[in-house]
Amino acid sequence: MGEWLEATVVEKIRWNDGLFSLRFDAPLPAFKAGQFVRVGLDVDGERIARPYSLVNAPDETPHEIYFNVVPEGPLSPRLARLEAGDLFQVHSSVTGTMTMERTPEHRHLWLFATGTALGPFLSMLKTDAPWQRAERVVLCHSVRTASDLTYGDTIRELLHRYGNRLTFVPLVTRETVTGTLQQRIPAALDSGDIERLVGLTLRPEDAHVMLCGNSDMIEAVQQRLEARGLRRHRRREPGHVTVEKYH
Ligand SMILES: Cc1cc2nc3c(=O)[nH]c(=O)nc-3n(C[C@H](O)[C@H](O)[C@H](O)COP(=O)(O)OP(=O)(O)OC[C@H]3O[C@@H](n4cnc5c(N)ncnc54)[C@H](O)[C@@H]3O)c2cc1C
Repeated sequence: MGEWLEATVVEKIRWNDGLFSLRFDAPLPAFKAGQFVRVGLDVDGERIARPYSLVNAPDETPHEIYFNVVPEGPLSPRLARLEAGDLFQVHSSVTGTMTMERTPEHRHLWLFATGTALGPFLSMLKTDAPWQRAERVVLCHSVRTASDLTYGDTIRELLHRYGNRLTFVPLVTRETVTGTLQQRIPAALDSGDIERLVGLTLRPEDAHVMLCGNSDMIEAVQQRLEARGLRRHRRREPGHVTVEKYH
């Protein structure tokens, strides 16, 4: 279902050698914050397509994707070489279940991202929905190096707008960086450092958790959450944890 649409690169942001955002124009249909599109390029007569979350809020243009280069991958290095004015393909069926609409009632929304999985959370936090639902939002972003801590302006703007209702927890695993935790997310849950920093306990009574990115992080955190009584959320079986695996 759906069709391929032509997308035009409006702007490329190069965060570091391996980390890029592409802003683009394309006649995409309405979507929900947290959803993803399929992006394609034709290589030697064959279309290579991969899913990418949208970073822009549904009412924002241009559209935006945020990705890291997988050097041996067929698509991401080619996407990173695109420049303003270049064309690519984007599929009209925007999809994905990691959205606020599908989230049950909660007081505290905990968002855990590795790397580029920050993107869909920024899209959500730029909409009203999380702020109408949750008293407090905790955004944890785990990266390897300080130069992977991106979208600082957007995060500062959100912190300015929502004050202490939003807590941003950066975790940098391979460098010591002031103001960040030097642990992976599962270890920072085990040590209690995240909850101490935020001043909240992550518990089933008031939390909804969204996990996005690397499957190792997702599985390790899910185990810990299950031990605390937080179950995977499914449409027919409401729970506390929503998951989207990138790789
Ligand atoms: C629902 C969904 C949404 C996604 N959204 C994003 C997004 O917003 N931003 C983004 O950067 N990626 C995202 N991805 C991953 C993306 O679709 C591609 O797999 C990735 O960009 C690599 O593409 P590739 O063709 O170069 O290599 P692939 O052939 O796709 O992958 C090559 C190898 O790299 C691994 N890999 C895939 N992605 C990564 C990664 N990000 N870091 C390290 N290793 C990886 C794969 O498991 C595989 O072993 C998403 C994946 C899914 C399933």
